[in-house]
Amino acid sequence: MNRLKYISAYPDHLQQQIKTLMDKDQLSHYLLKRFPEPHKINNDKALRDYVNQIKKTYMKKSGALSKIQYDNKIHLVNNALGMHSYVSRVQGNKLKSKNELRISTLFKTAPLELLNMICVHELAHIKEKEHNKAFYQLCQYMLSNYHQLEFDARVYLTQVEFLGDIY
Ligand SMILES: [Zn+2]
Repeated sequence: MNRLKYISAYPDHLQQQIKTLMDKDQLSHYLLKRFPEPHKINNDKALRDYVNQIKKTYMKKSGALSKIQYDNKIHLVNNALGMHSYVSRVQGNKLKSKNELRISTLFKTAPLELLNMICVHELAHIKEKEHNKAFYQLCQYMLSNYHQLEFDARVYLTQVEFLGDIY
């Protein structure tokens, strides 16, 4: 099992830093220092309000989301970071595409900063399906330190999967 899989695309020195913290059993301490408390957005209604507020602020013109919810079927191994689904359904004789935004329940007890990051990531996918330059520009527009927080989210997932919850 590769314990660095969530951060494997980052420079060696960053991976090494996290590995050292894991080896010294200090990763949860490191995360708690950065993120002392979990957020309180712990149900689907609160999540919907939270996501819609971000959307209203930055992506007002994009089409409405048909569903916003926590999803416990998104497991870490299936890549909790990035589960946007564009469901095509046949309703009557019409094919309808829906924008659904699902956030892994793993983020239910995460720091607010990381919930913010994952919501921004999924919202950006309404406009940009691929992880390309335009996608990351949109993420940064909504959250200026997006890149740092995506790294932090990956470190957080590493902690939760291999070492357990921090709160
Ligand atoms: Zn994605």
